[in-house]
Amino acid sequence: LTSDDSVAATLTTPGVAQAFRDAVGHDPEGVFAAPGRVNLIGEHTDHNEGHVLPFAIDRHCRVAAGRRTDDVVTVRSAQEPGETVTTTLDALHRATGWSAYALGTVWALREAGLPGEDGWDLVVAGDVPLGSGLSSSAALECAVALAVADLTGSDLDRHTLARAGRRAENDVVGAPVGIMDQAASLLCRDGAALLLDCRTLEGQDVLLGLDEVGLVTLVVDTRVRHDLADGGYADRRAACVAAAEALGVPALRDATPDALDRLDGTLRRRARHVVTEEARVHRVVEHLRAGRPHEVGPELTASHASLRDDFEVSVPALDAVVDTALEHGALGARLVGGGFGGSALVLAPADAAPEIGEAVVRRAADDGHPEPVIREVHPAGGARREAWAPGGRH
Ligand code: ADP
Ligand code: MG
Repeated sequence: LTSDDSVAATLTTPGVAQAFRDAVGHDPEGVFAAPGRVNLIGEHTDHNEGHVLPFAIDRHCRVAAGRRTDDVVTVRSAQEPGETVTTTLDALHRATGWSAYALGTVWALREAGLPGEDGWDLVVAGDVPLGSGLSSSAALECAVALAVADLTGSDLDRHTLARAGRRAENDVVGAPVGIMDQAASLLCRDGAALLLDCRTLEGQDVLLGLDEVGLVTLVVDTRVRHDLADGGYADRRAACVAAAEALGVPALRDATPDALDRLDGTLRRRARHVVTEEARVHRVVEHLRAGRPHEVGPELTASHASLRDDFEVSVPALDAVVDTALEHGALGARLVGGGFGGSALVLAPADAAPEIGEAVVRRAADDGHPEPVIREVHPAGGARREAWAPGGRH
């Protein structure tokens, strides 16, 4: 086996259970899987208390887990071969690096009332690509959260698990993320997107019905990441807060299109993105509910134009993917995530996907951009306990 093969072998439920057995010396008590996600539409609406529309995808982080009889916690990952991170229950919040996502989640769950004084052995293996905008981080947090809550026999609900994952990322990893990724990973139903109200955290299922009419979603990772990503993100958030203040509303979610006339210049364009994007989310939901999935395409493309021209968070490599995909038969495309690089989402007829992929790669080469990585993603259900019976504990 090459090292790639041995990682691939862990990416199944029996595979990660075997990896646990090899590392820990006995069977895990359970195996849990949590999906990554992609956000169909609703970009930069989350920090304005608006709506987002993510769906869970058919790529997962799996965790094989077992309780210990002391207060030690160990975590290993197939994506970090050879490393075992060992700590104790009272030091979980001091975790650093990749293990902070997993250990921080155990810490946050205990803060939220998870009972028990026993430690844990955790073995992780995932096929959500790391750092490609498909939320490998939430997949890891949510798989750990479900594992630890389920094996403790606790009655913490899935919203509490989602908040614990977010808290791990905010307070232990130190990343100022919202709750969309964890909510999608834990709450999505198979074949449906989750219309999430970022003010109330209420969610509604919205059936996608894309596969049924021969449509696919491609995620194109440009592998471009700009140094100004963090500063640019903070600047856009601040502009939204300033615009809401100028309009006298609690958040831009509450601003009406007419109110935009009371703003000028840059602030007006920033606010216009948020107000029009919020309207696009609701139009996409209407199209999907009315069985008009093809109509979603133009809304995605309009979202991109707004992110490019009004919010100014696109970069040439993303614009090139969107333009090229549309020229080769895509119904719609847009940048996804905060912007300044990262990935684009393309909605296309399945039979156009190969040509779109080739054209996007060719265009990147012509423009001197890095070679993009293209993945077809399909809707999937939320985090679950895997059907797998251990041979017995110890
Ligand atoms: P994204 O969530 O879009 O994939 P992030 O930067 O938010 O990107 O999270 C990626 C980080 O999460 C990785 O750099 C790593 O530290 C951690 N991570 C995610 N999945 C795993 C895994 N299976 N094993 C180890 N670390 C992981
Ligand atoms: Mg992430």
